[in-house]
Amino acid sequence: MTDGVADIIDGKAFAASIRARVGEHVARLKAEHGLTPGLAVVLVGDNPASEVYVRNKGKQTAEAGMASFEHRLPADTSQETLLALVAELNADPAVHGILVQLPLPAHIEEGAVLGAILPEKDVDGFHPVNVGRLATGQTALVPCTPLGCLMMLRDRHGALSGLDAVVVGRSNIVGKPMAQLLLRDSATVTVVHSRTREIEAICRRADILVAAVGRPQMIGADWVKPGATVIDVGINRVDAPEKGPGKTRLVGDVDFAAVSRVAGAITPVPGGVGPMTIACLLANTLTAACRAEGLPEPEGLAA
Ligand code: NDP
Repeated sequence: MTDGVADIIDGKAFAASIRARVGEHVARLKAEHGLTPGLAVVLVGDNPASEVYVRNKGKQTAEAGMASFEHRLPADTSQETLLALVAELNADPAVHGILVQLPLPAHIEEGAVLGAILPEKDVDGFHPVNVGRLATGQTALVPCTPLGCLMMLRDRHGALSGLDAVVVGRSNIVGKPMAQLLLRDSATVTVVHSRTREIEAICRRADILVAAVGRPQMIGADWVKPGATVIDVGINRVDAPEKGPGKTRLVGDVDFAAVSRVAGAITPVPGGVGPMTIACLLANTLTAACRAEGLPEPEGLAA
């Protein structure tokens, strides 16, 4: 950090380095063990945002040298049909990771589908068994977005032991697993949410502040301790009249311009946490494949 200007944590470059490491390990697995890790992605319906995610996941999976299996089902697919596909993928030895893209259409019960994925293939880390394993300090597959945040924090700080960490948001996808991962690395963790009193004062104590709220630029400079590391998970689309009529742009949950004058390091939006998520999905698939085959896992790519 130079005076009053935070270091920018470049998630795009970090994600590229993770993908490169995954790719190198995959090449070794193929050459030495004849093993190609495989990721199956299931998309139900035609949600445009999900379409983009699934396309990117498939592309990056193939670029890392892994097998990519895409299953696109119509929006009126029954829960029974989806569960039958999950059972098929569970039984397929070429598939080491299964991801069912969320959200699912309203007539399908999300919990039933996520709970049907074999925990060993649950590369999203949403299965209750993986949630429980993470919470009890056992080997788990952990959700990709908080795993990406953890990697960036370890890279910045080395050890997180004893640091004060505040996580804003308590969702099952980000906030709660983030808190568990920080706790596992011996940070002192506080989780705040919409009912928290004196939230700004609590955030101001944090050496590490992770924002996963979904409220554009909610966290201002006076929420942040000078020198803190700020990880902005939020992705919010807001109007951008300066770009022209009807134009929009992406912003995080953190007021980047103001907070970067106080923080020691900060992730931008876009280009911070976002790119890390798919990179960690690839890392989780590789980890799942190594565990399934009883082979050593690559260093530093799991929690
Ligand atoms: P959820 O909507 O599931 O959770 C939001 C959390 O923020 C809740 O715990 C809620 O509290 C809390 N919250 C809401 N308003 C306030 C407030 N005023 N003060 C304090 N806390 C508040 O969101 P997600 O966790 O799924 O996602 C959060 C953000 O991260 C979103 O912008 C999302 O788009 C983004 N995201 C980005 C990803 C990526 O980079 N790849 C991946 C996943 C998410 P309460 O529980 O009390 O309601």
